[in-house]
Amino acid sequence: PAKEKEDAKIEGAVQIAIGVKKEVDFAGWYTNVLIKADMLDYYSVSGCYILKPWSYSIWEEIQTWFNTEIKKLGVQNSYFPMFISQSVLEREKEHIEGFSPEVAWVTRAGQSDLEEPIAIRPTSETSMYPYYAKWIRSHRDLPLKLNQWNSVVRWEFKNPQPFLRTREFLWQEGHTAFLTKEEADQEVKEILDLYRQVYEDLLAVPVIPGIKSEKEKFAGGLYTTTLEGFISTSGRGIQAATSHCLGQNFSRPEMFNIFVEDPNDGSKSHVWQNSWGLSTRAIGVMVMVHGDNQGLVLPPRVASVQAIVVPCGITAKTTDEQRKKINDSCEALAKTLRDKGVRAKADLRDGYTPGYKFNDWEQKGVPLRLEIGPNDLAKNQTLTVRRDTGAKNPVSLDNIGQTVSDLLATIQSDMFNTAKTNYWSHVKAVTEWKDVVPALDGKNIIAIPWCEQEACEDEIKEKSGRAAEPQDERAPSAGAKSLCIPFDQSHWPAIEVGKTKCTGCGKDAKRWTLFGRSY
Ligand code: AMP
Ligand code: ZN
Repeated sequence: PAKEKEDAKIEGAVQIAIGVKKEVDFAGWYTNVLIKADMLDYYSVSGCYILKPWSYSIWEEIQTWFNTEIKKLGVQNSYFPMFISQSVLEREKEHIEGFSPEVAWVTRAGQSDLEEPIAIRPTSETSMYPYYAKWIRSHRDLPLKLNQWNSVVRWEFKNPQPFLRTREFLWQEGHTAFLTKEEADQEVKEILDLYRQVYEDLLAVPVIPGIKSEKEKFAGGLYTTTLEGFISTSGRGIQAATSHCLGQNFSRPEMFNIFVEDPNDGSKSHVWQNSWGLSTRAIGVMVMVHGDNQGLVLPPRVASVQAIVVPCGITAKTTDEQRKKINDSCEALAKTLRDKGVRAKADLRDGYTPGYKFNDWEQKGVPLRLEIGPNDLAKNQTLTVRRDTGAKNPVSLDNIGQTVSDLLATIQSDMFNTAKTNYWSHVKAVTEWKDVVPALDGKNIIAIPWCEQEACEDEIKEKSGRAAEPQDERAPSAGAKSLCIPFDQSHWPAIEVGKTKCTGCGKDAKRWTLFGRSY
């Protein structure tokens, strides 16, 4: 008991070990969690960060899963250079207008200026499509489905935030070409649903799928589908991943001229194209959604350590033999779990108290802790402690592999369900303008019947920004943007054509649309 008290004291100190509370200084809390969980370090170039193994391993889990799924769809991985010549980058006008403020240029090599500056890709449409034109000749060359895992550079001037908005970020970008619009449309949806599974099933982060407004769609594309996430502590929406249909804009004759010829009549069909991307932003969203005042909380499916076994109850009076017995049991338990496919580890570090170890693994977000002390050994049991809820439960060591696997699955689904309930409790249906700003100030996003006119969108942003309370300097935008038009409109009463009016401007509404302050 004395030992337990000591541990409790250390655990008590941990309450404030993360430094600042999530609800008090969210931005400070976020960076503290990342540092203390050993996910990230700062770097000498502003807006760039080092992804340490504890976060990179999450990216690897996402990669492994997503690679398997896209290969089932016939997508192949490849690699294109990171440099794009100026003339090629600037060929598509709308596209370059969307990206030009953020493009980084190489202008010099050693001491000499380059004849023509070379761009570092902000995305690879213009890098890849000249070669699509070369490679796609006949119907047999379609569909062409390539993906690459790479980094891109967008020299953003908005305040950088680790993972969420960085100047260089890791992502995958898929680029596909089809003969028909129907095939392209179908793939856009399939990919968006894979992204939804990455967020919801792997990261336990709920998202709302929908379509972007004309104003918010990808520069140079036909339409953009998106997953919108939500950070309830800040009340802000965040674009989680996007799957674009580019239409025939990049393939038309004046652009990259990508077509196949009909062998019978020589007629040309220009291809339909998609591009789709998911970035390391996903990791930041996961941290923000699940983390608490003890630190990171990892969903089991992406945790590189799912269960940590900690020896307990070792005191000054414990003999070497007893100590060895406990340590061996911990190691044996970890091995049993690993044999059952659980990513488990025993923390046998000498010279650290159990309390210190508890704190350490809690900060790092390990989903499950298993404690073994002399009493547990005598009873052939271990004490399980859940990271997400703190719930403690002794379980038998018989059949422990199954017990732990089941518990991890429960943690995974509980984390998702909790986050989903939380998200939807912050989606407020608003039909009168007077309720818009109070709802936003209450850290909600709003669903409004909307006219889908760009002028109205600008006006909503302007009016909701003006009335807002002062924002801290890291707040990216105070006015509300359109986030997406959800595919599933059934959450709200049906829009009656000619009767339901737009909350923004009072004209006829078309569909319920999510608006919110956002990252
Ligand atoms: P986009 O090509 O602009 O549609 O971007 C694809 C995805 O990358 C977006 O849906 C974002 O989730 C993510 N993303 C965009 N900009 C950044 C950034 N600066 N840092 C991290 N992720 C980003
Ligand atoms: Zn309107």
